[in-house]
Amino acid sequence: LTIPELLVQTAARFPNHVAAIFEAQGIRWTYRDLIREVDALAGGLLQLGLKPGDRVGVWAPNCAEWLLAQFATARLGIILVNVNPAYRPFELSYALKKTGCTALILAAQFKNSDYVAMLSEVVPEIAASDPGALHAAELPDLRAVIVTEAEAPDGMIAFPDLIAKGRAVVAKDLDAITRKLDCHDPINIQFTSGTTGLPKGATLTHRNIVNNAASVTSAIKLIEQDMLCIPVPFYHCFGMVMGTLGCVTKGAAIVVPGPGFDPITTLDTVSKHRCTALYGVPTMFVGMLEHPRFAEYDLSSLRTGIMAGAPCPIEIMRQVQSRMHMSEVTIAYGMTETSPVSFQSATDDPVQKRVSSVGRIQPHVEVKIVDEDSVVVPVGAQGELLTRGYSVMQGYWDEPDKTAEAIDADGWMHTGDLATLDVDGFCKITGRVKDMIVRGGENVYPREIEEFLYTHPAISQVQVFGIPDQKFGEIVVAWLVAKPGADPTEAEILDFCRDSIAHFKVPAMVRFKNSLPMTVTGKPQKFIMRAQMVEELG
Ligand code: ATP
Ligand code: MG
Repeated sequence: LTIPELLVQTAARFPNHVAAIFEAQGIRWTYRDLIREVDALAGGLLQLGLKPGDRVGVWAPNCAEWLLAQFATARLGIILVNVNPAYRPFELSYALKKTGCTALILAAQFKNSDYVAMLSEVVPEIAASDPGALHAAELPDLRAVIVTEAEAPDGMIAFPDLIAKGRAVVAKDLDAITRKLDCHDPINIQFTSGTTGLPKGATLTHRNIVNNAASVTSAIKLIEQDMLCIPVPFYHCFGMVMGTLGCVTKGAAIVVPGPGFDPITTLDTVSKHRCTALYGVPTMFVGMLEHPRFAEYDLSSLRTGIMAGAPCPIEIMRQVQSRMHMSEVTIAYGMTETSPVSFQSATDDPVQKRVSSVGRIQPHVEVKIVDEDSVVVPVGAQGELLTRGYSVMQGYWDEPDKTAEAIDADGWMHTGDLATLDVDGFCKITGRVKDMIVRGGENVYPREIEEFLYTHPAISQVQVFGIPDQKFGEIVVAWLVAKPGADPTEAEILDFCRDSIAHFKVPAMVRFKNSLPMTVTGKPQKFIMRAQMVEELG
């Protein structure tokens, strides 16, 4: 099934069901409305001369235009390139250049914020109403810049105008294109989070993501009556595959609180629309649970959802189940390169398993855990996690060498994550291979030390990483954020460690920070911490 075929099928089954609510924009579409708007945008893109296989970038936080862009590009077999809304100009032009985008859709909803400044920084020529210069010099392929506002500056196209013109295109002409698409065609280039370095563009097909979206939402028993609240970014696979596409596989409603994550807006949207399901990364759930106004919101409609993207502390999982009423919440593990989910808990897994593992392997996906010599490790032992199946990406866009490093000749995706599997097949993610510290010949796993430090009452966030050292090869460093009102000292933290963990795991250095460098997807970026620490020490 291709993405447009899926949308047509769902809209035919549930024409009057709510498809999408964009709270911040006051938009409420049924599936009939959604398909009408998608076709109008597809018509507009067709009139711009875009054709199957072209790349179109979307650089916007969550908004209705994003959703239309996702399905309108798919309708025409255009490859959507999701650009992180937090990108700075350098990264934006890197992504557009790398993928040879012919058009870019830009959000203009932050008119009075940094957004305008950012836009004129990256495209000064656009600000000066002279887009030609930029295209020629920087981005030779870029022919059209579409902006999501009623009045576009010279040189840009206003999104509403494009849609209005596109309504004249007859469905028959769009259908003729859609019919020729193949489910093995690439349809998205999804950039990874950039947790370990520069983001990589994973090339994914209709088949990759339609199947994963269906599988992930089946695991949470999502049905057409459900209202799924999506505060996670659309730009990331969590939003655009597990979220929007996942809802379309079931005929459920996509409920979007706002452009970015905000605990209150999310709580408010859930209670106002009686949402039954909610997605989030662990830090989002923490943000809601710890908010002083948490108790004001009625979350009793919630039943299920997914927490994914980063390790989830057990205590948070328990609170989500009790205080947020999400008794059927599941944990998912995946990566952009595998469409994304490969492990997920089931709603009826024992609670203890659901809080302490990422569940079992997804249907139709294979798994093995291997040691440094690629030999499968015994049950319970730690090694690198490898997965194989329909969900593995075609490759990194225009990076054959990196692709060959990641996917071996037998089709196994090397995840770069360390994991263990128990006898029943439940998987625990124990860290990233790259993050492992080798200190004086001993392997040190940061995750283990982090879990331990989280048990200290004064610590709110902790990250452990290694930095180069002449004597030991590498040494252990911990960055901590104290809980509000707490004021722990380095000596106190070290004492706490010395009594309880092996000497080689005790951090050689401890630093207190107000916050930690994070990706938009809520993941701590150790490579930045490492670089800052190395710089600090000269
Ligand atoms: P980059 O590849 O650019 O460095 P990234 O790996 O964070 O960034 P994503 O594809 O967004 O980019 O995230 C996939 C990674 O997130 C996984 O490889 C894993 O390390 C981590 N992850 C995802 N889900 C979980 C989970 N449930 N528990 C622990 N870690 C998780
Ligand atoms: Mg990765």
